[in-house]
Order: sequence, then C-alpha cells, then structure tokens
Amino acid sequence: MTKNVIRVEKLSKTFGDNRALDNLDLEIAEGEMVALIGASGSGKSTLLRHISGLAVGDRNSGTVEAMGGLIQKAGRIDGAARARRADIGFVFQQFNLVDRLSVINNVLLGNLGRINYWRGAFGRFSRLEKQRALEALHRVGIADKALQRAGTLSGGQKQRAAIARALVQEAKIILADEPIASLDPASSKHVMENLARINREDGTTVLVSLHQVDYALRFCPRIVALRAGRVVFDGTREQITQQLLKKLYGAESEDLILPPFATAMPEPSRIPVKSPPPDLQPAMTAVAS
Ligand code: ADP
Ligand code: MG
Repeated sequence: MTKNVIRVEKLSKTFGDNRALDNLDLEIAEGEMVALIGASGSGKSTLLRHISGLAVGDRNSGTVEAMGGLIQKAGRIDGAARARRADIGFVFQQFNLVDRLSVINNVLLGNLGRINYWRGAFGRFSRLEKQRALEALHRVGIADKALQRAGTLSGGQKQRAAIARALVQEAKIILADEPIASLDPASSKHVMENLARINREDGTTVLVSLHQVDYALRFCPRIVALRAGRVVFDGTREQITQQLLKKLYGAESEDLILPPFATAMPEPSRIPVKSPPPDLQPAMTAVAS
C-alpha cells in the first residue's frame, strides 16, 4: 500500500466571517503529482500554507499531517512541526529569492533547515554543499547563472532557482503556490516540466496550485478542485471536462479556462504525458490582445 504523505482532516480556517477553508479533507500518497485548481479566492494558497505549517487552522478544526507526523491540530502548530518542515519545499508565485545574493547562494539556503543556523547565516557552506547546489542548478537548466545576482534573472529563471533550492533541501514534498502565475508560456512550461521531472525521477510528491486548468491537465494526473474552501472534485485528469468545470464553478469557470485554449486543447486522455506540450505562445498572445 502506498502511504499518505499529506493528510488533511476536517481543516477549517475562518478570516472574520469568511470561511477560507471549510471542514476540508485531503489525502495525498507518496509520489503523486497533484494539481490544486480553483478560481481566485477558493482557498488554494490558504490550504498550502496550512499544510506547510505557515498558518494555523481554527481552534475547533482538525489536523494536518505531513510525512506521517503532525504539523498542526485544533489550531496549534505541533512542537515537532519545525523539524518536519525540513521535508517540505515551498515554491512561491513571487519566487522568494534574495535578489542581492548570487543564484548559488540562494540555492544553498535550501540547506538551512538541516545545518547550524549561524553557519548558514554566514554563508559557510562546504565544498560538497556547493557542488550539490550546482548540480541542482544544472538539473533545472540554469547552472550557467550560478554566479549571477538572483535579481538579474528572468522570472522563469528565478522560479527554476527556487526549485533548485527545494532540491538542495532534499524536500520529500514540494508545495508550489501558483508557481507559473507571473510567467510567460515558455517559462511556465519549463517550470512545470522541471516539477514533473523531479516528481518522476526522485519520487518527490508535488502539490501545485494552478489558477488555470490547462497546465493542470497537461502535467498532473490527479486534480483536486476547490470552491469556497471545499473540495468539489477530486479525481483523475481524464475525468475533467469543460461541462464539469462549468458545473463546479458556474460563472467562475470563465476565470479558469481561457476559451481559445479550451477549443485548442486536445482531449486530456490523449495528452502524451512524456512529450513536451505544444507551444502555447500563439494562443496566449491571442488572449492577451
Ligand atoms: P486562492 O489562493 O485560491 O486565490 P486564498 O487562499 O488566497 O485563495 O483565499 C481564500 C479566501 O480567504 C479568500 O476569500 C481570501 O480573501 C481570504 N483570505 C486569505 N488570506 C487572508 C488573510 N490573511 N486575511 C483575510 N482573509 C484572507
Ligand atoms: Mg492564491
């Protein structure tokens, strides 16, 4: 039996009188690559932040477990959650790199969960750590940028550096919150391909929130759809149809599928998993203009 590396049970989060997460249950098995979809405001970021222990649920709400250990329960972070978080890499929409540091130093920060704080803070990294950081950059295809300041990278390169940081961290789980939301189609494709490859080659569990459905269908075998803080669909990508999205999201579905895309999209079941997705540039340009 495959084991669950993420387990969310009866998680609720209320902001004022707004229920961002509503008694939500979710289980993700080791090695899965799962897309979290939903219109903006549906609770994607809130859920990811709760799984990583960056936020705590309501006092009367349930539990979050990662790698078999408790992250939070009844609105309290577990005492051992900090150590468990070393296994969880988080990739943010806005990259969260230190712009004034070199790319490789940013990637080396992935070691911080494991090594002595002061050694990390003073940039005292071993030769082996530096070598591993370079290898991680090589894996995401930007080893040649290692010595450049992070601030000088393009958005797509920054996101790949952020993924390299999670590689150095040796994260067992990567949570990525709309990692391609501010990227152009070519960079988006690179970033998603990198996440998919790490999932495939290392068995890293990936949970990635995506505002639009097309990339979810291309890269993620399992789709979890949120609406108003609840899971309204949890199944395979083959089960997702435009009709279903319309039913799940009503008027909000316009927000999730771009019409020119939707018509140009092949049937999900016929998408070859290993071949790169077709160039999305023309469709995106058409949408933008
Ligand atoms: P998504 O990531 O799917 O766009 P979010 O998780 O950011 O959705 O937000 C879910 C709901 O919770 C929204 O109604 C949002 O306004 C609200 N929300 C999120 N974070 C906060 C916060 N820090 N304070 C108040 N409301 C918040
Ligand atoms: Mg969000």
